[in-house]
This record gives sequence, structure tokens and C-alpha cells, in this order.
Amino acid sequence: MSNQFILILKNSDEGKFNGFKRKNFNKQTKEILKKNSSNHVLGLHKGVISNKVWNKIKKDDKFYITIENETFRVTANLIKKAKNLKYGEIIYPETIDRKQVNYFLFFKKLDDCREPFEVLKKRSKSNIFSNEGIFEIKQRTNSERIKKTKINKALIEKTRGKVERKHRSIQALDRNQSNVVQLKKLYNNKCQIQQCNFELNYEKGGKIKQFSHVHHYNQLAKSRMDSLNNMIVLCPNHHAEFDFKVKLIDYDGVTIINEKGKETGETIKFHKGHKLDIKNIESLLGEQDG
Ligand SMILES: [Zn+2]
Repeated sequence: MSNQFILILKNSDEGKFNGFKRKNFNKQTKEILKKNSSNHVLGLHKGVISNKVWNKIKKDDKFYITIENETFRVTANLIKKAKNLKYGEIIYPETIDRKQVNYFLFFKKLDDCREPFEVLKKRSKSNIFSNEGIFEIKQRTNSERIKKTKINKALIEKTRGKVERKHRSIQALDRNQSNVVQLKKLYNNKCQIQQCNFELNYEKGGKIKQFSHVHHYNQLAKSRMDSLNNMIVLCPNHHAEFDFKVKLIDYDGVTIINEKGKETGETIKFHKGHKLDIKNIESLLGEQDG
């Protein structure tokens, strides 16, 4: 699977960035580009990239590229990376410190992007986030990849339901009970935390019943979204932990982290007919960060 990276240039490198975007290169650079089957090349000081991050970068990885504090303007998939002492002088002949620019990324095609700086910054894996360099992004592809169901159309049709107030005076929320029932059925009353073994069977009316909770991930009263893309099935223990926000779902939609951002070693699994809205996940992580 390809990784994603944030690439930020200093404001003073705006000219460099625009040249990169417009394929505004000299003849020698164009030859280098041709040799590397690409159309765009961007060079960076090695001082602004950690070795750990540089070593992780590989072909086809996705880059979000912009100038510091601006909305991300382009994305591109990497064709090639190169550490080359000569390229700096060829590609940036007029730059004073051209000899120190020796980490290069080659791209074939740029795509427009309008991702706000602050949003991507929050998704950066690094705690030390400066406004220049390359930073790894936490994956969110798992939750994005889960496709809408073919299995239970009725279930999906209800995902847009909003909570209505029953009595304004007491502000009671009318939960959509059938969503709860259907979701429990979808997961056979099993906790969605993959490593959880909790099971409680009981007898009612001569039938064996199982016990589970449905948790509104992004607090019901706040979001007022009583829809399936804000609900998960949990055992009572995990329900309590999620209620008190000592456990949260990370940006990838799968990994469970504690309130300090540390991974707990647990993961949450989703039925292919069900997913949480990434906005609900991000909203809680946002609260945690800020
Ligand atoms: Zn559980």
C-alpha cells in the first residue's frame, strides 16, 4: 500500500514552487526530467527532512504539496526520489544555497487539491511539525475503502436519519430504535473491537438472547446525528471506555488509541455494509488535540 506525505515549502520558496507547478525548467533540467520519465521535479534541503521519513518514501506514494500555512494546492504521485549533489546546481542555478539542495522528488502529473493546511497538519504522524519539509500522514484509507452495502439496502437508507426532539421542554432525544436493532443484528451482538471476547447470553421468553450496546460515537446530544455512520456496537466494557473517551478511533478508522494518543493494540472492525463517517472520527480526535 502506498504511503501519503505532506510536503511543505517555506513562503520564501514560492518562486520555486510556482516553477515546479508550471514546469518552468531550464534545458538541462528538462533533460534530467526526460531521463526520469517525469515532468516535475522539486528539490529540498536535506536538513529539513528526517532520514526516517526519507527512507520510507517510495514510488507511487502520494504527496500533498504547498507553501507553509496555505491550503494544499497540488497532490502528485511519486515517480522517483533521488539524492544527488549535482542536481541542485542544475535545477536551481540562481539559488545561493543550490549546493545544499540535494534531495529530489520527481512527479509525472500534478492534480489540484484544496485540503486546508490545518487539517492535514492534524493528520501528520509527527509530533514535531515544522512548516518546512516532508511529513508522513496517518492513513485513513481503511475507513474510506469500505464501500456501501449491497447486503442491506434498508440499513444504508436509514443512515441519513437525524434525531428529532420529542419534547422541547425536556430536550429528550428520540433515538431511532430500528437503527440500533439492525446494527446489533449486523454484528450478532458482538463487540466491534476485534480483540474483544466479551459475550453475555441470557434467556428471555424461552429464547437465548445476547447482550450488546450501541454507542453513538460522536456524542449524540452534540451532533444530533442518530445515523448509522455515527454508531458502533460494543460490549459494556468498551462502551464505558468510549463513553469516557479513554479510548478513541484513530484517523485510519481502525486503530484504537488512548486519550494520550498511544495505540492500545486494539483495532475496530466494520462490516462491509457499515462505516463511521470520517468526520465523526476526526471531530473527536480534534477535541483531543486541541
Ligand atoms: Zn468489547
